[in-house]
Amino acid sequence: MDFNLEKSKNLYSHAIDILPGGVSSPVRAVKPQPFYTKYAKGSRIVDVDGNEYIDCCMAYGPLILGHAHPVVREAIERQLEKGWLYGTPVELEIEYGKLIKKLYPSIEMLRFVNSGSEATMSAIRLARGFTGKKKIVKVEGSFHGAHDAVLVKAGSGATTHGVPNSAGVPEEFVANTLQVPYNDAEALADLLEKNEDVACLILEPIMGNSSLILPEEDYLKEVRKITAENDVLLIFDEIITGFRVSIGGAQELYGIKPDITTLGKIAGGGLPCGIFGGRKEIMESISPVGPVYQAGTFSGNPLTLTAGYATVRFLMENEVYNYLKKLTEDIAERVRDAAKVDVGHIASMFCIYFGQKPRNYQDALKLDAEKFKAFFWELLKEGVFFPPSQYETCFLSYSHSESDAEKIAEAVIECLRKL
Ligand SMILES: *Cc1c(COP(=O)(O)O)cnc(C)c1O
Repeated sequence: MDFNLEKSKNLYSHAIDILPGGVSSPVRAVKPQPFYTKYAKGSRIVDVDGNEYIDCCMAYGPLILGHAHPVVREAIERQLEKGWLYGTPVELEIEYGKLIKKLYPSIEMLRFVNSGSEATMSAIRLARGFTGKKKIVKVEGSFHGAHDAVLVKAGSGATTHGVPNSAGVPEEFVANTLQVPYNDAEALADLLEKNEDVACLILEPIMGNSSLILPEEDYLKEVRKITAENDVLLIFDEIITGFRVSIGGAQELYGIKPDITTLGKIAGGGLPCGIFGGRKEIMESISPVGPVYQAGTFSGNPLTLTAGYATVRFLMENEVYNYLKKLTEDIAERVRDAAKVDVGHIASMFCIYFGQKPRNYQDALKLDAEKFKAFFWELLKEGVFFPPSQYETCFLSYSHSESDAEKIAEAVIECLRKL
């Protein structure tokens, strides 16, 4: 295959003078340069040099139906005719809200916001405001977006105070953020025994931002039990897993009822979106009803609601999940058998581990991220686009065909052989 990135190289050389690192979000700053997308359709993404890739990144999760899915596109087009931002309530807030309540029984009331970061930031403020407590607990290596309270260094130990992992975050801002390792219910129980003033535990029920790490048997049930016993609110960050591992998210899959849930990514059908919701009693602490302030110009805008609603309706009306599970399992099994590597997978998420399958963040740090980068480039040359880091997860969409899956598996096996 005639693979070159001349046009992308040229664009990137201009971008680095205008955008820090040449990008609008750091993971995209692939070295020596990222490819620039010209268009994308279905399972395919095409760059400005004319290279076509089978996309396994899918914009890091939102596009469960694939790129430019006609059902979502038509819904957006219909809304465009009527305007795309009003600054007033719209009927779809009620319709979509009702649908989410039905699919996520733990959510009795919710608020629409504009990104996952905004959802988790607001959910944490809400937990603190509702309980009147200061401290929060997060899981080491879990990602909840780019706001101050969750930008803490991992590995600082379960009982010590948080240390910022970003410049510009004063120590005081994370002094009340404690951390526990994933898949370790005992560490959580210990921490909560030693710390009284804890408002909430926030976690990704399935970790999707430190490679892919699955919960061990009963871990989430234990977490639910321990948080309830200690009067600590449980926040499930389902921004990746919501509508992904099942239509009702990880909470449906594992039968757990969190107090607060955050959604995003798929919930906006490919447009910027965040949602947080939970028990009515808790949600009524949000302004204008309660004392916890939260607001947004673009929140609940009709365009995002339309795209999200069309996506979720489609997911309800079609056999998406069984199909995707089978497709993902096929890739995982073939790669595992042929290349003798560990492959993690659940529903339509999968991850090739360069090293041993991790059970927490400290394990994930031992993976060979450098080797993954070489693999990423080999794979790109074969026409398959993986997210450019060992610490990201691959996603399949309803637009991926069985022949796409076959090509992905073959390319992965071939590239692993070459390395
Ligand atoms: C993507 C993600 C976020 C942040 O969402 P943005 O829309 O990028 O702000 C938060 N939590 C999890 C688990 C995510 O995967």
